[in-house]
Amino acid sequence: VQRYFDERCKTSKALSERAKTVIPGGVQHNLAFNHPFPLAFSQAEGAHLSDVDGNRYIDFLQAGGPTLLGSNYEPVRRKVHELIDECGPVTGLLHEYEVKLAELVCRHMPGVEMLRLLGSGTEAVMGAVRLARTFTGRKWIIKVGGAYHGWSDQLVYGMRLPKTGRMEATGIPRGATGHTQECLPNDLDELRRKLSWNRLRGGTAAVLVEPLGPESGTRPVHRDYNRQVRQLCDEFGALLVFDEVVTGFRTGLAGAQGYFGVKPDITVLGKCLTGGYPMAGAIGGRKDIMMSLVGGIGTTTKRAFVGGTLSANPLSCVAGYHAILEMERTGAAAKAGRAGDRLCQGLEEIIRRRGLPYVSYNMGSIVHLQTSGVLLLDTSSLWKLLKVKDEAKRRKHMMEEMGAAYTAHGLITLAGSRIYTSLADTDEVIDDALNRFDDV
Ligand code: PMP
Repeated sequence: VQRYFDERCKTSKALSERAKTVIPGGVQHNLAFNHPFPLAFSQAEGAHLSDVDGNRYIDFLQAGGPTLLGSNYEPVRRKVHELIDECGPVTGLLHEYEVKLAELVCRHMPGVEMLRLLGSGTEAVMGAVRLARTFTGRKWIIKVGGAYHGWSDQLVYGMRLPKTGRMEATGIPRGATGHTQECLPNDLDELRRKLSWNRLRGGTAAVLVEPLGPESGTRPVHRDYNRQVRQLCDEFGALLVFDEVVTGFRTGLAGAQGYFGVKPDITVLGKCLTGGYPMAGAIGGRKDIMMSLVGGIGTTTKRAFVGGTLSANPLSCVAGYHAILEMERTGAAAKAGRAGDRLCQGLEEIIRRRGLPYVSYNMGSIVHLQTSGVLLLDTSSLWKLLKVKDEAKRRKHMMEEMGAAYTAHGLITLAGSRIYTSLADTDEVIDDALNRFDDV
């Protein structure tokens, strides 16, 4: 593996050395997987990427999820070019594509009656929390342990690691997380206890969940979990917020809410929403709740202030609108899902045949391949396990080594443990990938 990176990735290596002198750590995304160094890419089309040294890869990173149609999808690219020729990327006024995109999302997502576009998933979650607090007049936010909702002060809280108890959480004053609580995934008793405790102390504004479980199902929740959380929210008058940044459109045009048949009060969208183009973030929800975004200076209406200079720019909107139309036309989520099933079944076969202590599981196009230790469904044992000396470090090291090995065999994954399939993943692509996984 090391020889591959040394001999076949010389231009990437030189570029990453140059990057380190002007970019902290040489990477722009602290969470990006970059072992032993980040590869630089120059071409992308469909299921494949090529790096600057001319090596070709099957792309299972899919930009971290957004490109459900495959990379650089031509019909969307063409519409983006047309829009740039017509009015350029920004107007700052209303553009028809804003309305068309909002109409389309409202049509597909059961819990979305109105939509407000923002710049990223992080921004959209921040906005959703502010909206929930404004609408309910309550303080507390409950999230599920290990879930990722972006990097805002109040929500980075709780990505616990042993010893420090925190991850990526320096520079956040205690007060910023003072009204964020955390429950272990699948633990409904704990959620009920927190909701009851909060009732006498300012009330719970919202319960935030990733509907597949923390980190897009890295810690899966049981089939009925979302419905039971919905019931608890109703009982305590808290709003249910689904963070569908990853699952939105990828699990189907109706998102995970369609799949599970559970309607959240507020939905957070990102990634696929703009088909892989920038400024992917939105809050959607019930009309009465969403109207708390309207009002402002000089009015008596309670208003949650959210916005941004480039929010809802025509370039992002044209890309999102045509990407979702193409998802409709092609049945992208179902097809990418079948590719995910085929890949996952193949991985299971390899794991069984070779007697490996690994686990592979998927929810359509979101495939998990765990090679770093036992998969923990029982949540209390998770924290116990992570207290074992150096266990977190060992797991991280294992993920990095596996990820680098996949890359050296022509497979780009997310952190060596997550795989996103796309519409471009034909049976031939998946079978090619399975041979490569088998070699690793
Ligand atoms: N929520 C979830 C579930 C996510 O996976 C992510 C990003 N991976 C975010 C929010 C944050 O989105 P962004 O990176 O666009 O800020």
